Amino acid sequence: MSNPPFEAFPRRDGNLHVEDVPVAEIAAQTGTPVYLYSAGALEAAHDALAAAFAGRPHVICYAIKANMNLAVVSTLVKRGAGVDVTSRGELFRALRAGADASKIVYSGVGKRDDEIQAALEAGIKMFNVESRGELRHIDSVAGSLGVRAPVAFRVNPDVDPKTHPYISTGLKTSKFGIPIGEAVEAYAEAKALSHVDVRGVDCHIGSQLVSIDPFADALALVRNLVVELRAAGHAIDVIDVGGGLGVTYAEEVPPSPAEYAAAVEGSVGDLDCEIVLEPGRSITANAGIFVTQVLYQKGTDDKHFVIVDGAMNDLLRPALYGSYQRVEPVGPARGGVQKIDIVGPVCESGDFLAKDRSFPRVEEGDLLAVRSAGAYGFAMSSNYNGRPRAAEVLVRGDQYRVVRERESLEDLIRGETIPEDL
Ligand SMILES: *Cc1c(COP(=O)(O)O)cnc(C)c1O
Repeated sequence: MSNPPFEAFPRRDGNLHVEDVPVAEIAAQTGTPVYLYSAGALEAAHDALAAAFAGRPHVICYAIKANMNLAVVSTLVKRGAGVDVTSRGELFRALRAGADASKIVYSGVGKRDDEIQAALEAGIKMFNVESRGELRHIDSVAGSLGVRAPVAFRVNPDVDPKTHPYISTGLKTSKFGIPIGEAVEAYAEAKALSHVDVRGVDCHIGSQLVSIDPFADALALVRNLVVELRAAGHAIDVIDVGGGLGVTYAEEVPPSPAEYAAAVEGSVGDLDCEIVLEPGRSITANAGIFVTQVLYQKGTDDKHFVIVDGAMNDLLRPALYGSYQRVEPVGPARGGVQKIDIVGPVCESGDFLAKDRSFPRVEEGDLLAVRSAGAYGFAMSSNYNGRPRAAEVLVRGDQYRVVRERESLEDLIRGETIPEDL
């Protein structure tokens, strides 16, 4: 029944392509480092999830923080996706990309009043409220605008998603959400306010989850809560199951969309709720690569370093989480294999893209592709070490477009002044 997986990065005559375009051809035009995204892969990932949930009312609210490029977001919005935002800036991007405000949910622990106001004025679907203080602010801002704010509480079920500690969000030691044990009281408070409408329950426990169990454990608790809240007179008709579905970086085998949908169905399927999904990584990670060029090589007795023009400011995951992402030569592999560290020019020992890899011999000028770079790649980039941010390119079939220009030197100092009077 299912279609063959979309082959976003085929190798033809030994040369890596994005869809039908040779990577080397794009890099020759844009320079390096550069991010390349496959439109077909973005659509295939979105559509696979949509197909798995097709049997029930649902909205896929793409977690824009994973990859906020307007062209990427627009590609998904045109497929019917809504957006999960965590700031006013992300709301702005989502709307600019053409998202339907009625399919936007707003998450995040620190929403300011001006951000709440912007979201109310846009007419978003729902706020995922992360504290009772925030609830009161939403009520008051909505009151000053003369509207009612649709809300869900993000509940923290104290479930260990068994992923990296920095991306575990559903433990009771985490800053996210309200403890599930305090939810009944919090919903009672919400019900007593005059400018919020309680709509649902939200739960997002972490990212890069490669087992279905933590999802199922959390959803079982959410289910009990929904039943309890309904008994207390709350009209709960939305369950936001968050994001977090893992992807294959190395050998991981994450749950398939069908397994994931079955877990949701199995735990909350009989509650007659609309399901909101907030996938980020699982939509964009494997739709993108990061392409960098070999500048130099040097060795000591213990190490062989391949120094490339891409760095931790461009692609932070390896440095921040010690993450593994596959790296391969863009051209045909040269003979001979050696153990290498692939490192960038930034003045930090943590600046590496890959460590202790067995890799074909490389030469100065070779292009390397870092796989699974479509999520939390460009989105986490910075100008550290005075480095302009990389270009981004979207490919569809045999066509490609630069969808974000490489930053210029002038971009690096935009907004800065030297005060002559101080
Ligand atoms: C980061 C985040 C997501 C997306 O997580 P992925 O692991 O990229 O799917 C969804 N919801 C919330 C609230 C988030 O913070």
